[in-house]
Amino acid sequence: MVGKIREMVNEAPPWVTYAVAGTVVAIAVGVVVYQLMPASTGGSPGDKHFYCADCDDGFTVSAEKARDMLREAAKANPGQRAMAKCPKCNKFTCIIGLKCEKCGKYFEMPEKSGGIFPTSWRDECPHCGFSAQRDRAVRAALKQKAEGKYDPDKIPPFIREAVEDAERSGEYKDVEKK
Ligand SMILES: [Zn+2]
Ligand SMILES: [Zn+2]
Repeated sequence: MVGKIREMVNEAPPWVTYAVAGTVVAIAVGVVVYQLMPASTGGSPGDKHFYCADCDDGFTVSAEKARDMLREAAKANPGQRAMAKCPKCNKFTCIIGLKCEKCGKYFEMPEKSGGIFPTSWRDECPHCGFSAQRDRAVRAALKQKAEGKYDPDKIPPFIREAVEDAERSGEYKDVEKK
């Protein structure tokens, strides 16, 4: 189980690695984190989203294309943080970002918060508030509840709060009933 998680973490985007920082959390969070793993933010697996700070918009390319673009960026602006060239404004202002699964907008990933334990959803959309990580975690937890396997003491407080919010809002009735 742990070996499998490590493997998946290695393949996952850096923010997922952070979300499960350390095996301790991975074990503590158990199934919930397992559900977080395949978190992609739309498009095919391996696709990279770029966010352009200048356009406040972004684009999606294959992992291979992303590597090429960053290589080009490093050549164009040696010694600086590699930012890819924006196909819209032609400026080197694009960083790896996220794309909201719900509203489709591109945005910049927020800075890490807290220490090694995740305390928030780093993929929360600043436009509509949707977080794919939270959505998966809530669904996993509600499924566990329905099966009588939910143990709130074993998951981090911020996930627990998200589950409570979801129950209050009634947004996940479909999962709760199953
Ligand atoms: Zn741009
Ligand atoms: Zn959104």
